[in-house]
Amino acid sequence: LPSRHEAGVYSVWIEFSQLAVTTKCLNLGQGFPDYDPPSRFSDYLAQVATEKNSFFNQYTRGFGHARLVKALADLYSKLIDRKIDPMNEIMVTVGAYEALYCAIQGNIEVGDEAIIIEPFYDCYEPMVRTAGGIPRFIPLRNTKPNASTSHSSDWKLDPDELASLFNSKTKLIIINTPHNPLGKIFDYDELTMIANLAKKHNVLVISDEVYEWLVYKPTQHIRIATLPEMWQRTITIGSAGKTFSMTGWKLGWAYGPSYLMKNLCVVHQTAIYTCATTVQEAAARGFEHEIALLGTPNSYFQTLSDELQPKMNYLFKILQDGGFKPIMPEGGYFMIADWTNFEDQLDLNSETDKYKDFRFVKWLSKNIKLQGIPYSAFYSEGNKRMAENYLRFCFFKKDETLKKAENILTTWT
Ligand code: PMP
Ligand code: GLN
Repeated sequence: LPSRHEAGVYSVWIEFSQLAVTTKCLNLGQGFPDYDPPSRFSDYLAQVATEKNSFFNQYTRGFGHARLVKALADLYSKLIDRKIDPMNEIMVTVGAYEALYCAIQGNIEVGDEAIIIEPFYDCYEPMVRTAGGIPRFIPLRNTKPNASTSHSSDWKLDPDELASLFNSKTKLIIINTPHNPLGKIFDYDELTMIANLAKKHNVLVISDEVYEWLVYKPTQHIRIATLPEMWQRTITIGSAGKTFSMTGWKLGWAYGPSYLMKNLCVVHQTAIYTCATTVQEAAARGFEHEIALLGTPNSYFQTLSDELQPKMNYLFKILQDGGFKPIMPEGGYFMIADWTNFEDQLDLNSETDKYKDFRFVKWLSKNIKLQGIPYSAFYSEGNKRMAENYLRFCFFKKDETLKKAENILTTWT
C-alpha cells in the first residue's frame, strides 16, 4: 500500500458496525435513524424507478442531474441570499464523503497544509494525506471545565493558537458545523474569526454542513459562505442522507464559486463520472416539495429537529441518571458523554486497545449490550489522550430504542 494511504487503513465504522452485529447489542454507535422518515421521499424513489420511458434508469449529466442541481440552486440561493448557477456552482456526489474527497483532492498540492479542528469527522485526515497534504490539528478546548452541566458551546478554538497554524503552505481549513461528534454549532463570532484568518492568508474553507437541518432551539446555523467576502473562498458540502434521514441514499453535493468547483469536477469526472439517476431524480422531487414548504411548520427541515430535540433531552437525562456526564449538543444527532465515573469499578483488561475509551466501548458492547463510538476515533494520534474519557452516542432512534437504553443503563451497575 502506498504510504500516503496508511492513515485510511483503520476505520472505526467498520470495526464497530461489525462489533454491533456480533454482540447483538443495542446500537447507538454509527449514526443512522432506526425508523423511516416521511414516506414521500421513498415513494418518489419508487415512482422514479418504475416510470416508463423516463430514462431515469439510464445515465444522467455527470456533474449532477439537471432537475436536482436546479432544486439545490433554488434552495441554497434562498438560504445564502445569492443567485447560485446550477450548472457551474453545484456538483452532485456520492454522499458528502465524495464531495469532501473531491474538495480536498482537487485543491491540495503535495506538501500543502490543511487545518483540521479536533475532534473531527474521521475521514478528513486520510483524505488530506491521500492527496499528499499535511494535516495541522487544533483541538477545541473546554472553556468551562467546572460547569455542572456541560454544553457543546463551551468547547472553543483558541484564536491565537489557530492563528499560529496559518503560514505560506496553508491551503485550506476544514470546518464542520453543526459538528459531528460534539454537536457544536459555530457562532457568528467564531466563524468571523476563522473567516478573517482565511482571508488574511488567502486560504480555502471547506465547510461540511451535512447536519444543517439538525439544529436545536434556540441555536441557529450560520453558513460561513454568507460572511463578507467568503463566498469566493468557500466550498460548502451537504448530504441527502442527512437531509432526508436516509443515509443509504449516499447522495451529496458541494456548492461554491465556479472557479473553485472546476477542480472538484475534474476529480469527480475521473473517479465517478455520474451518480445514480434514480436517487438524484427522487431527491430533486423531495427538495421541490420541501422548498414549497420552507419556513412553514410542515417543512421536514423544521419537523426533523422538533422530533429529535426531545430524544436528545431524553438521552441526556438517561445518561446523567446512569452516572455519565453528557455534553448537551446544539445540533447534529450525536451526544458525547464522560464515562470515567465507572473507571474504578470496571476491569477493562479483557480488552487490549491502546486507548481506554476503545476498551470501555468494547467492554460495554460485549458485557452490557449497548454500543457507542470511542471519542478518540475523532482525534489525531498525537491528541487521542485528550478524548479518552468520552464516548459518543447517536440519539436518532425510536423512543422505544432509547427506552431500552435507559433500561440497560439503570440495571447494569
Ligand atoms: N460529514 C460528516 C460530519 C458526517 O457525519 C458524515 C456522515 N456520514 C459525512 C460527512 C458523510 O456523509 P454521507 O453519508 O452523505 O457521505
Ligand atoms: N457519519 C456516520 C457517523 O458519524 C457514519 C458514517 C460511516 O459509517 N462511515 O456515525
